[in-house]
This record gives sequence, C-alpha cells and structure tokens, in this order.
Amino acid sequence: MDWDGFADWSKHIADWGARYHKTLRDRPVRAQTKLGEVASRLPANPPDQPEDMAAILRDFEDIVMPGMTHWQHPRFFAYFPANAAPASMLAEQLVNTVAAQCMLWQTSPAATEVEGLMVDWMRQALGLTEGFTGVIQDSASSATLSAVLTMRERATGYSGNREGLSGKGHLRVYCSDQVHSSIDRACWVAGIGQDNLVKIEGNGPLHGMDADALDTAIRKDIAAGHCPAGVIAITGGTGVGACDDLASILKVAKAHDLYTHLDAAWAGSAMICPEIHEQFWDGVDGFDSIVFNPHKWLGAQFDCSIQFLRDATPQLNTLKIEPEYLKTSGEAVTNYSEWTIPLGRRFRALKLWFLIRSYGLEGLQTRIRNHVAWAGDLCEAIRGMDGFEITTDPILSLFSFRCPGDDAAQQRLVDAINDDGRIYLTQGAFQGQKIIRVQVGQFETTRDDVMMVQTVVQDIWEQIK
Ligand code: PLP
Repeated sequence: MDWDGFADWSKHIADWGARYHKTLRDRPVRAQTKLGEVASRLPANPPDQPEDMAAILRDFEDIVMPGMTHWQHPRFFAYFPANAAPASMLAEQLVNTVAAQCMLWQTSPAATEVEGLMVDWMRQALGLTEGFTGVIQDSASSATLSAVLTMRERATGYSGNREGLSGKGHLRVYCSDQVHSSIDRACWVAGIGQDNLVKIEGNGPLHGMDADALDTAIRKDIAAGHCPAGVIAITGGTGVGACDDLASILKVAKAHDLYTHLDAAWAGSAMICPEIHEQFWDGVDGFDSIVFNPHKWLGAQFDCSIQFLRDATPQLNTLKIEPEYLKTSGEAVTNYSEWTIPLGRRFRALKLWFLIRSYGLEGLQTRIRNHVAWAGDLCEAIRGMDGFEITTDPILSLFSFRCPGDDAAQQRLVDAINDDGRIYLTQGAFQGQKIIRVQVGQFETTRDDVMMVQTVVQDIWEQIK
C-alpha cells in the first residue's frame, strides 16, 4: 500500500460511506449476528505476507459489516445518540490524515489555538458567562475523573498526589441517585471509594436531588469527622433524564466551600437553545467544572467532550506534570495535556469547527427543537396505547414507558423489537422497575421515523402478548 493507492482507496471508501449513509434505513438498526459469528469467520493467525486492499475491504463488507450496529441509523432510539454529522466526519478524515499529536502548543500550535477558540464558541453557544475556559477531552468519564481528582486534591491541600490518602480520613463526594456510573467509577479510581460517594434521592418532576437533604448529609458528615470534598450535579441523567436544580444545589455547596462539577454529557447540547438554557440552567455559571459531550446529541463525531472550567488553576495544580522533555521555552503557552490525564491528544477541535460552520447554530438548534417536539408527540401516541403506561414524562427528548405485565414482559418486548430491527430501544430501571427508554436525537431522523416507534411497538406487542 503506497500513497497513490491511498488516494484511490480513500475515494472508494468515501463513495462507500455516502452509499452506506443513504441506505441506512434499509438495514436492521441493531446487529443481528449471533455471539462469536464474526470471530468464527476470521483467521485465527496473522498473515505472513501482505494482502491486497481489495481483499481486505471485501472481508470488511462481508464479515465485519453484518456484525455492526448502526449508530447513525435514523431510527436509533437506544442509549443516547453518538451523532457523526457528515461535516464533522470530513474534519476527522483530515485529522486522521495529518495524524498529529497535539499534546503541547508547539507540537501543533493550530490545534491548541483552534481548541481554545472552539471551547469559547461553545461557551457562547451554551450561554455560559465569560471567564470559563476549558479543554476538549475524549469522554465525559475522563472529564469527571479529572474533576473528582481536583476535588480530592483541593480538599487535601494538594497533598494527595504527593503523600497518598492514608491518614486523610473519609473524603466525601455528593450527588443524586440519578447520576451516570462514570461518577461512581471516578470515585473508585480517585481512591475516594464507593462508600464515600453519598447519593441523595432524586424526586419531583425532574427527579433532582433535594438541596435540604444535601445540606443535611454534608452537616452529618462534618459532625462525624469526615471531609466533604465536592458535589456533582446532573443535567440529563442517563436513566430518565434527571435534572438537579442547579441554583439550590450550588448554594449549599458554596456554603460548605465545596468544589462543584456538573455532568451534562447528553443534555448539554440542548443548551444551545436559549429557552432550554433558561428552563434548566439557572445557576450554572457558579459551577467550577461542567462537562458536555458534543459527540452525543450535537453531531461532532466521537470522541469530543468539552470540560468547561471557571478557574483552570485547581485542575492544573492536580494534573500538571512537566518532565524535562515536555518543557517548552519562550513565552507562556497553553499546553492542554497538562489539563487532562492522557499525554497524547488528538486534534478534536477541528470537527467542532467544521460542524458549527457547516450547519450554523440555527441549524443545530432546529434539530434539537424538532427532537424535543417529536419525542413529546411520540410519548402521547404511546400513552394512548391500550394497557401501556408512561413511566416518566419527557425530559427534553427522553421518556420511558411500560407495556402491560411484569419486568420480564418489558424485556421480552425490548428484545423482540430489536430482533425485528426496524427500530432500536433499550431498557432501564426506575424506582425498582424495569422501564423501556426512548430517546430521540439522531442527526438525520425525521418525524416519520420517530412516529414509527409506536407502529413497531404495537405490531410487536400484538405478536408476543
Ligand atoms: N454522563 C451521562 C449523563 C451519560 O449519559 C454518559 C454516557 O452515556 C456519560 C456521562 C459517560 O459519557 P462518556 O461515554 O463520554 O464517558
């Protein structure tokens, strides 16, 4: 394979990609292969001799593709979206081609400077106050781990990294019971421990944590000699879209001088609509750290997770390490690898630049507003189905329902729907019961695609009930 061949095969793959995307509706959304089927068709040993690209691509189509679930399918309503808008994919092709390591300003000045600008464009788009800076990470899990490590270091006078945590008592972190599992894992990995992650029950229409209950928990811990370190709030929990009342949580956290992190991995994208920001984000500007994933709902191809920081210093004091070979001489510059855990970094900002320029904020806002409206229409259609129950009303574009019967019946329905292939849904748990989740957020979905969920659910229910 040489660079002439690269050009020809790149064109071939671009044509294949356009055809793939235009015909996605003809494919079952979830892969229909059996366990081990793909691996059984591949050779167990690596080839000694070079193989022809035509043969490699033939096997890709024949063996690999049938085993892929189509995350860009317009009728993917499972989990959360992982939208890869075509403009962002083109940027990724350029990034892959240049293949730079963007860990320091000098290892690719443009990558650092575009990243700084894109974080600020997104800050403006999300309606965050001036003064927030930030960094683009691979995932919300990494950003949350960075924030939890920062909470830990701040609470220990920045001594944990040097001395370890022995003898430092129980550091405590607070959140609602609706947070994503990445919060639990961040507390494990940071050495804080699951038992020191205090979960406050979510309640009310948005299933948010109660500020008084949070205050009581913190006071109780202080009385017990524990060391509160931080509060993690949520806008758009994975299960049912739970949203904390940010202003009231912040007031309690600040009264106890705690570091605050907000996980808006999914729902953050919707804050580009001013009316949604107004409804959900009162108080957001007081948070120390906020994460949202443009790689979910917005359309920037995975991976692209922005962590905004009101003051980057505590996180830099926690994560910055500067061995001799990474030192840069001359003027003070931003070296983004000092803000995060990995050293090596991709040029993730380019796809945001392409995305925002190519669709404009208005184009992206229209998609979000449509998704929210269509999720509401679909929810009403399912509410009208005989014996079906809406278990949680839409929060933005996510709601959940149950069919008649017990938890096993819910799982049977989900499995049968996904075996059918026209749509893809996933189950969840809420208040001790299994629920069926629907989220609307695919970049290319239409109202017809969304309303088809009701038809499919009805069809499959008739077959299995
Ligand atoms: N937070 C929430 C609310 C999520 O829904 C998810 C994933 O779906 C995450 C965090 C983790 O995101 P990532 O895959 O970027 O680590």
